[in-house]
Amino acid sequence: MAAPDIKINNLVKLNALLLLSKRKIHGYEIIKALQHNLGTRISASQVYPFLGILKRKGYIDHSKTDKRDKKEYSLTAAGKEFMRRITARLASVIDLAIMSAIKTCAHCNCEVYKGGYEKRIRDKLLYFCCRNCARSYRG
Ligand SMILES: [Zn+2]
Repeated sequence: MAAPDIKINNLVKLNALLLLSKRKIHGYEIIKALQHNLGTRISASQVYPFLGILKRKGYIDHSKTDKRDKKEYSLTAAGKEFMRRITARLASVIDLAIMSAIKTCAHCNCEVYKGGYEKRIRDKLLYFCCRNCARSYRG
């Protein structure tokens, strides 16, 4: 798989791309959504230069208008292909993140992603899917 030719090395860029892949969107809407999604203040200088790069690469296009903030951006066909490559790479990162979050119940061996039950038994912190398994454990 060819490496994407723009480095998507931060959450602002990744999130902006995901927003662009959903629908036509104004620059200020991207900033607002990023602030909401990332829970931090996002400045125009974190978004518009990146949009400029995407535009020069031919990955996004925008409606014609002379006011910058009134432009509605959307992914081009090349942009969608770019996103496909990004998400394919991302999938392996997400797999890793999920895998590292999965724990195995010390009693029944089932895999638990969320919830579960921790109990210290003979100085060892063990992980169980539920209280019943913790109670039944005879390690
Ligand atoms: Zn269990």
